Amino acid sequence: MKRLSLSDPVTAFKGVGPQLAQRLERLRMFTVQDVLFHLPLRYQDRTRVVPIGGLQAGIDAVIEGEIELSEVTFRGRRSLLCYVADGTGGITLRFFHFNQAQKEALTRGTRIRCYGTTRLARGGLEMIHPEYRRIFDTVAVEECLTPFYPATEGIQQTRLRFLSEQALAVLDYDDSLKEWLPDAILEKLHLPDLHSSLRYVHRPPPDAKLDELLAGVHPTQQRLAFEELLAQHLALRQLREQARREPAVSIQTEGRLRKQCEAALPFQLTAAQQRVIKEIQNDLSESHPAMRLVQGDVGSGKTLVAALVALDVIEAGYQVALMAPTELLAEQHYRNFCQWFAPLKIKVGWLASKIKAKQKKETLQQLADGQIDIAVGTHALFQEQVQFNKLAFLIVDEQHRFGVHQRLALREKGLLAEQHPHQLIMTATPIPRSLAMTAYADLDYSVIDELPPGRTPVQTVVISDQRRAEVVARIEKACLAGNQVYWVCTLIEESELLQCQAAENTATELAAALSHVRIGLIHGRLKAEQKENLMRRFRDGEIDLLVATTVIEVGVDVPNASLMIIENAERLGLAQLHQLRGRVGRGARHSHCVLMYRAPLNEKARERLDTLRNSHDGFVIARKDLEMRGPGEVLGTRQTGLVDFRIADICRDAQLLPRVHQAAELLNNDCPQAIQPLIDRWLGGRQQYRNV
Ligand code: ADP
Ligand code: MG
Repeated sequence: MKRLSLSDPVTAFKGVGPQLAQRLERLRMFTVQDVLFHLPLRYQDRTRVVPIGGLQAGIDAVIEGEIELSEVTFRGRRSLLCYVADGTGGITLRFFHFNQAQKEALTRGTRIRCYGTTRLARGGLEMIHPEYRRIFDTVAVEECLTPFYPATEGIQQTRLRFLSEQALAVLDYDDSLKEWLPDAILEKLHLPDLHSSLRYVHRPPPDAKLDELLAGVHPTQQRLAFEELLAQHLALRQLREQARREPAVSIQTEGRLRKQCEAALPFQLTAAQQRVIKEIQNDLSESHPAMRLVQGDVGSGKTLVAALVALDVIEAGYQVALMAPTELLAEQHYRNFCQWFAPLKIKVGWLASKIKAKQKKETLQQLADGQIDIAVGTHALFQEQVQFNKLAFLIVDEQHRFGVHQRLALREKGLLAEQHPHQLIMTATPIPRSLAMTAYADLDYSVIDELPPGRTPVQTVVISDQRRAEVVARIEKACLAGNQVYWVCTLIEESELLQCQAAENTATELAAALSHVRIGLIHGRLKAEQKENLMRRFRDGEIDLLVATTVIEVGVDVPNASLMIIENAERLGLAQLHQLRGRVGRGARHSHCVLMYRAPLNEKARERLDTLRNSHDGFVIARKDLEMRGPGEVLGTRQTGLVDFRIADICRDAQLLPRVHQAAELLNNDCPQAIQPLIDRWLGGRQQYRNV
C-alpha cells in the first residue's frame, strides 16, 4: 500500500470519501498537512480515573463505578437519574434528553465510565449529561490528554482525533514540513521546534500542564501562535507589495477646490485633520494605489478630511466613490457632501439598493459618462452593472463592518480596471497599533487623535433598570427644557423582528408615561424613506424622544440631542456603546448618557460599564474591550477572517508581535523562499481570497 505523504488530499485517508472531504474543506482541511494545522481548541484530562469519594464540585473528571439505582423522575423536568458508586462514594448522573435505548442500557448493575463536570445539587454531587460508556472488561484509560478540535456539522471529535492521529503518523517519515523560523528567534524566545510542537499540542502527555494548555500559553502553543502570526503578517505584506506594483493615477493639483471649500467652513480644521490630509495627499501623488486606514474617534471629523482630499481628485479630472455600511449613514454622507460641494458646482450622485429603477438607470448612465464627480452609496456601488468613467479614489466608511473578504473583493474590483483606485478606509473603531499592524499590515495607518475644540464630554452614569421610573422622569424634564433624547433598545443575538417588537413595546410604554413628549420610533424594519423621514423630523425638532434599536449607531447628527438612555447596556460591546454615546454631545449643550442595566450586574460587567463611565478615549475603551472580550469584538465580528486564527490570539499573544515583525524582516532579507510555504501552511484555504 502506498504510504501517505503530507501533500496528499484528505481523501487519501482511509474512510474519507467525497462527502466527508467536503465537510473537512469547510474547516480548511484540504491536505494531510492541513489536518496537522487544524489545532485543538481545548483539552480534557481523561488519563486518570478519580475515586468518586474524592470529588469536589465544579471539576472535570473521569469516574468509574456501578449503577446502583436508575430511575426516570418527573420532578421539575423529566429526567433520567442514575446513581453510580465505586466503593469510595457515589454520584448522580442526570440526563434531560435520553431515548429508550439509553434508558435500557443504563440499568442497575451496569459498570460505566464517564466523563463530565461535577456540580453540587440538592441531593449531593451530580453530573449533567456526562459522556459515558459502559464497560465490560477493564479498559485502558486515555494515554494522553484528550484534544477537542474546532468542528462543524457532521464531523465528530472522534473522527477528527482519528484523522490527526494518522496525520501525525505521516509526520514520522515525511520530512517535507520544514522548520522556517530562524534559530536566532527560536532561541531568544525559548520556543521549541515545529515538529515536536505539533505532536505536543495534538497529543499532550498525561503530565502536561493542563492549565497552561487551556490558557494557550504552553511553549509549544506559543511557538505555533508565533508562526501563525508571522504567516498572517507575511500574507498581508505580500498583498501590499502586490498593490505597490500596480499602476494608479498620480493626483497632483493646486488644491483650488479644496481651498475654496475649506474657506467656506464655519470652523478651522484641527491640526490632526490637517496632518492626515497631508498624509493622504502624499499617498495620492504616488503612481501606485494607496491603501490607508484613517482611524478617528466619533466626531473627530474624518468625513470632512475625506471630502477635502476628494476635491483634489475631482479637480484633477477623476471620479470619487464613497461607500458606507448602512443606507442611513450613506444618506447622511450624501447630504453632507451635497452641502459642502454644491457651491463648487460639483455633481454628487446617490446609489443605494432601494432607489427607483428609472432614477438608478440615470445615475448609472451619469457615472459611466463621467457627469457625476462623486458617487455616494452603500455596497450597491460595487455591483456588476456599476461602471465608473474614471474612478481614481475610493473612500470606505466604517470598514470593519465590511470584513476582510469584502476588502479583498474591493481590491479585486480595482484589479479589473486598468488604473487602480486609491483607497481610503475610515473607521471610528479604535484599533490598538499592535493589532493594526497585524490585522491591517496591508494598509498604511493614520490617526486623527484630536477632537474639534468646544465639545464637552458626555457625562455617563451606570444605573439599574429598577430605577427606570427615575429615568423616565428625567426624560420628561429634559424634553420640557427643550432638549432631545435618544432611547436605545438593545437586544442582541435575537432576530430583527424581536428587536423591533421590543422597541415598539418600549415606545408604547414611554408614550403612556410621557403624554407631553413627542415620541418617534425607528428600527431596522422600517422602509428607508420612513427612517429618513423620522430622522429628519427628529433633526428638525418635531420629535423630542427617539426610541430606536441600535440602527442609530452610525446614524445622523442631531446637535440638539443631549440625553441618551441605553437599555440593557451590559449586553453590548464597549466599542459599540462608545459609538452609540457619540450620537450625543455633538452640540454645545452639556450631554448625558445613562447606561441602564438589568440587575443584578456581575463583577465583570460592572467593570466594563465603569470603563465607559470613566473614559471618553476610544483607545482606552478599546483596550479594555480587547482585554475582556478579545479582538474579534473590537474588529466588529468574530468572522472577519483576519482574526479567525487557528491558534494565535492577538490579545493574549500581543507580546509576541514585535518579534513577529522582526522575524518577517529577517525572512524577507535572508530567507525569502520561506515566505510562501509559511503562508500556505497557515492560510491554506484562505489563499483562494488572495488571488481572486
Ligand atoms: P466623524 O466622521 O469622524 O465621526 P464627521 O466628519 O462626521 O466626524 O464630523 C462630525 C461633525 O463635526 C460634523 O458636523 C463636521 O462638520 C464637524 N467638524 C468636522 N471638523 C471640524 C472642526 N475642525 N471643527 C469643528 N467642527 C468640525
Ligand atoms: Mg463619520
